[in-house]
Amino acid sequence: MKSDSKIHLLSREVINMISAGEVVERPASAIKELVENSLDASATSITVEIEASGKNLIRVADNGVGMSEADLEMSCLRHSTSKLRGIQDLDGIRTLGFRGEALSSIAAVSQMDIKSATEMNGKGMYVYLESGQILRKRPAGRACGTTIEVRNLFYNVPARKKFMKKDSSELSEIARVMGRFVIAEDNVEFKLLQGDRTLIHAPKHLSRFERIKLILGEDIARMLMEVKSCYGNSGISGFISRPAATRKDKRFQMFYINGRYVRNKVLVDALYSAYRGILERGHHPVCVIFLEIPTENVDVNVHPTKLQVKFKDEKAIRDDLARAVGGSFEALKIGEGENRHVKVSQDALPGGSERLVFEQTPSVQNQFTYEYESPLEKRAGNDQVRSGRKERSALYQLGNCYIVSLLTGKIVITDQHAAHERIYFELFSKASREKTLESQNLVFPVRIELSVEDSVLMGQLSDSLKKLGFLVEGFGERSFLVQAVPAFLKKGDAGSIINGIIDEIKKRDLKKEDMLEEIIKIASCKAAVKSGDILTVEEMSSLLGELSSCQLPFTCPHGRPVQIELTLDELEKKFRRK
Ligand code: ADP
Ligand code: MG
Repeated sequence: MKSDSKIHLLSREVINMISAGEVVERPASAIKELVENSLDASATSITVEIEASGKNLIRVADNGVGMSEADLEMSCLRHSTSKLRGIQDLDGIRTLGFRGEALSSIAAVSQMDIKSATEMNGKGMYVYLESGQILRKRPAGRACGTTIEVRNLFYNVPARKKFMKKDSSELSEIARVMGRFVIAEDNVEFKLLQGDRTLIHAPKHLSRFERIKLILGEDIARMLMEVKSCYGNSGISGFISRPAATRKDKRFQMFYINGRYVRNKVLVDALYSAYRGILERGHHPVCVIFLEIPTENVDVNVHPTKLQVKFKDEKAIRDDLARAVGGSFEALKIGEGENRHVKVSQDALPGGSERLVFEQTPSVQNQFTYEYESPLEKRAGNDQVRSGRKERSALYQLGNCYIVSLLTGKIVITDQHAAHERIYFELFSKASREKTLESQNLVFPVRIELSVEDSVLMGQLSDSLKKLGFLVEGFGERSFLVQAVPAFLKKGDAGSIINGIIDEIKKRDLKKEDMLEEIIKIASCKAAVKSGDILTVEEMSSLLGELSSCQLPFTCPHGRPVQIELTLDELEKKFRRK
């Protein structure tokens, strides 16, 4: 090397400080790394203490395996790790850490105390570091485990210190980070203390669902149902929001891969694809999903904070997850599987009036599978005869809008429009997917007149309409003739359906790929019976029958609930008999 070279190697100290920026951005990220280390050390109890928002003090204490004197000295060197030896090990990583960067990075930008012991004999070691250098070392008493104290984060990097967020947002980020661990590690006790305030305390034997309730709150917990399935070597478990129980924000969508909290678009896409056609506009599902997949099929070494991962086979993962979520809706419908008796719905869903799942006596079939016997008698009293799967039900129409069915032990209330929309939506979707749509020629074609603007739009829509069974032909400049409609459309005025589609599509700025689904939604809405339509008992009965053969009978295509139930149990609660 020439001595006049402008280029020189950076000192270890500077390298550490630079790389610290990648791993430790803020107190919350330091806490994340320290807690991961505790978990990797098999701790079953982890206490995190902070002062204010952690900028001046973070203390993480665990009862893990601890470090020997030699390990302690090594641990704060850059790229020192006990979790990985060679590159071949990367494929089989089960620990949360493996890059050997965290402790050295945090130590490089703080004043750090570590106390650790590997045995229960009370003998341990203590070291004190500043800017990553060990300045003091001495024996110190401690039970087996490790306590790491981080003081004055970024005290030696003023530029970074300036960039730290204000205390309140830092504290909520810390709570978020801790919450993710609490939910995932259901055999570990966690405490988050701020001075003498306890912000989180999760005892060791708290179930996963209880943990979710503790961290995300009762309102979220009440929305959830279980999801569980296995595909080959992979497993999917966790909780998702029930159809019709969604939120207006995306804040509560959590994914874990092999115990590691991750952010990943493939998983989010899979989630939304399973909720297709049952989400209200601007609404989002909630989920806490755990995927267990063979470690060689996922690369966790994509980013220093390990929040991102890459899959070997994205499509397989996406399909599995969408199938698992879709499968739990299915289970909800037919009343099989664990979703139903959900211990969850028992303690988490007291009196939620919009809920769809209830524990039922085994002899009573789920609301979606019973068969209505026709003709139905409107007289109460003679109505609750059960025979196997069949259940006679008294049907009433309430407010020319709701169908009320009296069944054994419960009342089911169906929104006639929402139900009919769902039925048509599924018929249209299936037909356009399988290209099996039968059209029926109208004896008297319906003529519609459009404005110039609308007739241009009609030109663009006619192909999509044809796929759905509506044959619309030009008839002069701005006139069109509806020649045929889908065969399954029983009622409904073809002209008003087509006009409705034009009106609605005009208002929206839709992407091409969303067009067909939107047209299906509008057509279903326009063709369906409306609130205010008077229905005969036969009509109500056949509507409910068709609804029960829907794949996702829980919501209308816009995500509003189709049915609600009131059980005897709930009545008893409401009348305070219980
Ligand atoms: P990594 O976690 O990627 O191995 P770190 O810099 O986070 O790297 O930690 C370095 C090493 O220090 C770990 O591999 C582990 O051996 C040791 N270590 C850190 N924290 C603890 C702890 N709380 N208990 C026991 N060992 C620890
Ligand atoms: Mg680590």
